[in-house]
Amino acid sequence: MHLQRTLRRTIACAGIGLHSGKKVTLSLKPAAADSGIRFRRSDLGGQEVPAAVSHVGGINHATGLMRDTVRIDTVEHLLAAFVSLGVDNAVVELSSPEVPIMDGSAAPFVYLIQEAGIKPLSSARRYLKILRPISVTRGDKRIAVYPSDHFKVTYSIAFDHPMLRHQSRTIRLTEESFVEEIAPARTFGFLEDVEMMRQQGLALGGSLENAIVIGDTGVLNNALRFDDEFVRHKILDVIGDMALVGHPIIGHLVAHRGGHALHTQFAAQVLDDQDSWTLVEAPAQPVAAPLPAAEAVRAVN
Ligand SMILES: [Zn+2]
Repeated sequence: MHLQRTLRRTIACAGIGLHSGKKVTLSLKPAAADSGIRFRRSDLGGQEVPAAVSHVGGINHATGLMRDTVRIDTVEHLLAAFVSLGVDNAVVELSSPEVPIMDGSAAPFVYLIQEAGIKPLSSARRYLKILRPISVTRGDKRIAVYPSDHFKVTYSIAFDHPMLRHQSRTIRLTEESFVEEIAPARTFGFLEDVEMMRQQGLALGGSLENAIVIGDTGVLNNALRFDDEFVRHKILDVIGDMALVGHPIIGHLVAHRGGHALHTQFAAQVLDDQDSWTLVEAPAQPVAAPLPAAEAVRAVN
């Protein structure tokens, strides 16, 4: 059994929203077992929106949540960091509607969570273990999840653009592999789309400081962090979107040409398809081996 975890202390930072361009203060706070990840708007008297599939609302180049009239935008990178670092419960307080984009990746959120520290709680974590395949196809876009003893993601992307045709990657997700190989991968977009997005009131906070911009002859930024940074970022996005099911997944997620709309529709479908999964208290059944040393140290801290 693994214990649920939360943050050891509150930590805060400031930034701007990628789409709104608005300044925002972000505070990550400890929370009780079984309370999950909850977003709180300090500018709206502390009204809360839980990070749950049932509150998805407003998908437009980012994943938004909505409860009554309270909106939270661009939640995916922060949620990916929480689920990948094993933080089950936290309050995310924001002073405006959009989570700050930081550098366009999840690395700054990993840093914040590690600085806050992680604390075990007294209740067991429950994993959503896939027993039977579940899939959704929309035209040439497809996403599926298959039984596996681990959480793995395979993602492939294909664009009709000379600088970015096809990339594919499979990764077994652990805290370490997420931090090193996925979290630093940044948001990306095509220069030809930027003007259209701005006319729609999107990407107002976007710059080369927080997004890779792909022009006709190359990326406008100086350098990529990985040769295949684009597909790694898609893996980051799908981890964050699938975190809305509310439990870490044990299964192999396979996506082709997905986006936030497909990811979140799929998260809802997975939750609905209750015959195809079960909740378990340990990632692998039966549990024969003792916890790895690093895990055991964290558990008693
Ligand atoms: Zn993203």
